[in-house]
Amino acid sequence: MQSAWVDADAEALVSRAAQTGVDRDLALRVYTTRLLGGDRKLVLHGGGNTSLKARGRDRLGDEAEVLYVKATGTDMAEAEAGGFCAVRLEPMRKLRALDHIGDLDLVAIERANLIEPAAPNPSVEMMLHAFLPHKFIDHTHATAVLSVIDQPDGEQKCSDIFGARLGFVPYVMPGFGLAKEAITVFERDKPRDGLILSKHGIVTWGGSAREAYERMIEMVSLAEDFIARNRKSVAVAAGATPRNVADPAHVAPIVRGACAEKDEKTEGAWRRLILEFRCGETVLRFLQTKDLGRLTESGVITPDHTIRTKNWPLLLPLPDNDALDHFASAARQRAGDFALRYHRYFARNNARVGGIKHELDPLPRVVLVEGLGLFGLGRSKPDAVIAADIAEAWIEGVRDAEAVGRFESITEAEMFDCEYWPLEQAKVAPTFASLAGGGRLGRGLPLAGQIAAITGAGGAIGAATGRAFAAAGAEVALLDVNYSAAREQAEQIAPTALPVACDVTDAQSVRTAFDKIVKDFGGVDIVVSNAGAAWQGRIGDVAEHIMRQSFELNFYGHQRVAQAAVKIMLAQGTGGCLLFNVSKQAVNPGPNFGPYGIPKAAALALMRQYALDYGSHGIRANAVNADRIRSGLLTPEMIASRSKARGVSEQDYMSGNLLGREVTAEDVAQAFLHQALELKTTADVTTVDGGNIAAAMR
Ligand SMILES: [Zn+2]
Repeated sequence: MQSAWVDADAEALVSRAAQTGVDRDLALRVYTTRLLGGDRKLVLHGGGNTSLKARGRDRLGDEAEVLYVKATGTDMAEAEAGGFCAVRLEPMRKLRALDHIGDLDLVAIERANLIEPAAPNPSVEMMLHAFLPHKFIDHTHATAVLSVIDQPDGEQKCSDIFGARLGFVPYVMPGFGLAKEAITVFERDKPRDGLILSKHGIVTWGGSAREAYERMIEMVSLAEDFIARNRKSVAVAAGATPRNVADPAHVAPIVRGACAEKDEKTEGAWRRLILEFRCGETVLRFLQTKDLGRLTESGVITPDHTIRTKNWPLLLPLPDNDALDHFASAARQRAGDFALRYHRYFARNNARVGGIKHELDPLPRVVLVEGLGLFGLGRSKPDAVIAADIAEAWIEGVRDAEAVGRFESITEAEMFDCEYWPLEQAKVAPTFASLAGGGRLGRGLPLAGQIAAITGAGGAIGAATGRAFAAAGAEVALLDVNYSAAREQAEQIAPTALPVACDVTDAQSVRTAFDKIVKDFGGVDIVVSNAGAAWQGRIGDVAEHIMRQSFELNFYGHQRVAQAAVKIMLAQGTGGCLLFNVSKQAVNPGPNFGPYGIPKAAALALMRQYALDYGSHGIRANAVNADRIRSGLLTPEMIASRSKARGVSEQDYMSGNLLGREVTAEDVAQAFLHQALELKTTADVTTVDGGNIAAAMR
């Protein structure tokens, strides 16, 4: 591992920071924090932390010794001077006299000593930074270091590799206890460069930001060299070259369905997760390891990973392309066993701590599929990505640990204490206070964990629907025949919104689009079949090809999309929801609008047929009848000419309904959202037209 320090970059940051009143030390603290955070072999997603001790002034102008420490859960790669919490150091050091302090008391004392009262909570390792005397302190969970310390003889290996340069702190749960142990070891052994925190990570320090950082790089390099020198080949399972492995697009919905949980409180509701797939060379080779079963049972490489990945991954057998039913039943069985084991793990350990904890959901966050790859699972796409990144680091850490010895994690009880530590849970929970209600998946936005695909998403109604569903917590796939229109909407809606090119008049294009959605998110729960276009003509003399063209889009388009979605929903086995944009033309034909209205009437019948045929699978089908919405089907020119033809103002034309209100794309989007959320409603038509008795359902 090479130092990434570049003088010019460091100086540029120092001079930029000076313009906002940030001094050189803090600017360089930010610089090396970003260097550490930018290397995934050192820290991942909110792991690790850094600090600086300096003289500072409080709001009254009084000088004090101040500890700047990274805020809890924040990403080191994106460090900013303002993201460091400044705490008065002396009161923190006084706490060393205590044998023990409760989490809430500690947080309260930390907060009471913040220089800026509105600052976020400091890192959970803040006390370690406070007790150690060094000016700059860096702490990472470097994978290579974990490989050499997650060992039964980790202390011996550390002494072989680092000599007396690093002290060795036996495993203690992160927080106050670890801080006390660390300062004790430092004062007793007087290591020059830093500390190893057994089964957890490494600390280095220095008089300058560069010294602390480059010591970190040097120590990690020593661990890497040790692994390279001592690597023995790890046994591969017999017959390990996988054959006839199913496509991830067919496997993912099965995995996603197996790793969903029925909501016992609300009939028809499921707690679902989003998936992130990885199948790099390292992952595939690891899945061929002879000892895969033992390794998947062995635990995390560093304690704070437990809140993102749980302690163990779920291991599934090879999905044979010709026997996916067999794979599906094995997946459900093993996921069920995983949940059962999790309940027992919780019950056992909760009893140990006096029954004071609330059980988290029992669903896996990492699924290893032999021959195929791994899935990270999360309540949102970013959470799934984090789980997958950590799973890949876990694989590398465990692989190298096995290559130089035998991987050994902390104990089950130690993992439980981290998983159920409120200060760790606060990193992933919205607020500290919400922990009182338990960390069940049920909290949060109503569509969290669900995947919605919307066709015609480049248009007004499709885009508004995408916005509404994303705001309700769903991950959204935006399909449009015009890819750049879909991409433009996706960029505005959410960083995870997925633009997909899809021509619903082309069966192959629809299949490809749904494969892409499944590969990106793991499945689909809600489809808003919205793509459409209007053709006109008097029915007695309209050309047959016009009728066929309209049917291709306004009827078969819906059928193709619904068929593709239902196939995925059945593989998931957790129900689903098909929503169709059916227009008022389906029930209230307009003169010379037959080529548009007739396929829309057929689409209404299509919706009812899906409701009938798939209700027993929990798949609901509903439609929205909307009218007179400003969109690609009703352009400003059309509004001008029609209002002129009727001798009314444009405004009166647009609000020419019983309520006298113009209907917007957002109103239609809210109707779709309502239908998606009403778990007891199927075969429903919701009219969104401001009132038109001739178009009322009868
Ligand atoms: Zn740590």
